[in-house]
Amino acid sequence: MQNITCNMIKDLIPSYLDEILTDDTNELVKEHLAVCPECAQALNAESQRRVEGLWAEQERGEAFSQKLLERRKFVTGLIVGFFLPVIVVAVRLLFGMLLNGIVYGF
Ligand SMILES: [Zn+2]
Repeated sequence: MQNITCNMIKDLIPSYLDEILTDDTNELVKEHLAVCPECAQALNAESQRRVEGLWAEQERGEAFSQKLLERRKFVTGLIVGFFLPVIVVAVRLLFGMLLNGIVYGF
C-alpha cells in the first residue's frame, strides 16, 4: 500500500500523536515518516506546537496563581492597614479609660 499521500499522512499526524490509530494505520504512518522528511518535519512541528500549547497553558495557570497571590496580599494589606490601627486606637482608648478610672475614680 504505497499509494498513501503526504496529505493523508499529515491528516493522520494528530491522531498518530494521540495514539488513537489502529495498529495497521499506525504502522503505515510510521513507515511513511521513516522515508519522508517532509512528513517527519510535519510531525515535529505538530509535537512542538503541542508542547508550546502546554507551556502556554501552564503560563496561564501561573498568571492566575499570581493574580490570586496579589489578591491575597491586597486583602492582608487591607486587614493590616485598616484593622491594626483600629486595634491600636481601641487599646489606647481602653488604656486611657483605665488610666482615667484610676486617676478620677479613686
Ligand atoms: Zn510524506
